[in-house]
Amino acid sequence: TASATANPTDCNDSDSGKATSANPPHYLMWFRRDLRVHDNTALAAICERANEDNARVSAIFFLTPKQWQAHDTSLVQVDHIARTLPILAKALQEQLNINLIVQVCPSFSDCNEALLDICSANHISAIMANHEYEGNEIDRDEQLTEQLGKSDIEFVRWHDQCILPPQTITTNDGDSMYQVFTPFYKKWRHTLEVSEIQMHEAPAVSDNNNVTLEPTENAAKTVAEIESLSTRALEDYQEQLQSDDSYQHLDMSAQLEHARDAYPAGETAACQRLEDFITEDINNYDVSRDVPSLHATSQLSAYLTIGAISPRLCYLQANKAQEKLHGNDSDNNDINRWISELAWRDFYRHVLDYKPELIRHQAYKHETDTKINWSYNTDDFNKWCKGMTGVPLVDAAMRCLNATGFMHNRLRMVTAMFLTKDLLIDWRWGERYFMQQLIDGDFASNNGGWQWSASTGTDSAPYFRIMNPFSQAKTHDTKGEFIKTWLPELKDIPATILHSEEKMRKALSKKGDFADTGYPVPMVEHKAARLLTIAEFKKEG
Ligand code: FAD
Repeated sequence: TASATANPTDCNDSDSGKATSANPPHYLMWFRRDLRVHDNTALAAICERANEDNARVSAIFFLTPKQWQAHDTSLVQVDHIARTLPILAKALQEQLNINLIVQVCPSFSDCNEALLDICSANHISAIMANHEYEGNEIDRDEQLTEQLGKSDIEFVRWHDQCILPPQTITTNDGDSMYQVFTPFYKKWRHTLEVSEIQMHEAPAVSDNNNVTLEPTENAAKTVAEIESLSTRALEDYQEQLQSDDSYQHLDMSAQLEHARDAYPAGETAACQRLEDFITEDINNYDVSRDVPSLHATSQLSAYLTIGAISPRLCYLQANKAQEKLHGNDSDNNDINRWISELAWRDFYRHVLDYKPELIRHQAYKHETDTKINWSYNTDDFNKWCKGMTGVPLVDAAMRCLNATGFMHNRLRMVTAMFLTKDLLIDWRWGERYFMQQLIDGDFASNNGGWQWSASTGTDSAPYFRIMNPFSQAKTHDTKGEFIKTWLPELKDIPATILHSEEKMRKALSKKGDFADTGYPVPMVEHKAARLLTIAEFKKEG
């Protein structure tokens, strides 16, 4: 069997970390989007090596407000990170004898400078971290590698974010990346079947590891300090966002309150959610996953995005459930379907690694950037953002996103297609808005989902497959429960009307039965908009 474990990269084989009893080496674990102790590849590696070398280990995490703004990180995601950090600090201390320091460093270059200072003040000979695949992060890491190299300090990174690391799933006839999902998935599944996926559990570092990094400005060292520093950084960020026009229609405090309730922080909560899902909802996933009112999906994306749960653990638990239920017969549609969703997550990371230009928001299908005459109509866009398009499923989904920081996968496709195919608005505007709102906002999956929906990305279906938001509502919100939850003004309108554009127009017209709801008539006629979009994609480029 082949081994599918993550491999270290950028290791410069320096042996400057060899132990001497007088001057034990000191290693630094740099946490980024991997806020957990369990199955954390870099953390396991650093602890193992520290025990071999009789070294000390410290850990650091940077709060990076300028970077959040540059990446359009949502307030609810920053809040989720802020809530997770004290829990991580406690777990590291209790389980591994490692102290975590949290420091505010507004930009990535500030982080690198801080790391250089910390290394020299604390005689650190190696930093370990898990890979990140976005462009700014890659640049930051490359610069740091160069800077540390001058002082003979190692910077070792590990592949950890995916179940199978980027560049391990390539086409049969060469070493190219698959352009569409299905052949990628087949190869991914096959590789997993013949591989041994390993979890990396970190051993505790020796009891003598009572070391804390010195000196560090704007840093928190105890769990209580970490909690208050993270809260302050969150409040500053909220204040900054509140002065930005694109957030004026939102009730941020209500969004935060909802997210805190729906997503208790920390890896224990995440693992519990996984266990509950695997024992209950997964058994009906293939059918229920497309019904937004059922909440029948795992809701693990917020945890996966900040690394509070390991994707390998998700896969292994699902696989175990499959074996328990069906032995060697791997034909269980529900579990297979869920595993295939985990594969989509890997797929988009592999795509990003293969095409780093995506980070600059270039279209995956380059030609669409010059060919399609996208609209930049801010009035239309604002109606979409606020959930005032007159299309009930689209508006209910957008209001749910604005209120909770989460949107169901089917509705992400429906709203994205409405923006890009019915309004012909540039997908980059929608991509950005989602990042600003989603608790699970993640560049690779979000960019992948938007480009798939806009027919500029990896979708294998032709551009003329355009979802009709009214038929989608009929199929996936048959009784109109989801729509009525988020659009209370429509609570008395029968589902048969909500599911038909023509009937909605009649019902909401001046003389119609529901003219006084205050709800707008549909802002575009779907059939006509569809034809215009098809013509736009069809025209000579
Ligand atoms: P489940 O159905 O339980 O799936 C399990 C896990 O598989 C998810 O947690 C997620 O990590 C992964 N997954 C599921 N579907 C997809 C998919 N289509 N693409 C990639 N990974 C997937 N997902 C994000 O995590 N962050 C985003 O920013 C994001 N933006 C999206 C934008 C658009 C336009 C679209 C169409 C999809 C986007 N997705 C994104 C994918 C998907 O909608 C969410 O992962 C899913 O809704 C999360 O709910 P869940 O955890 O209950 O998923």
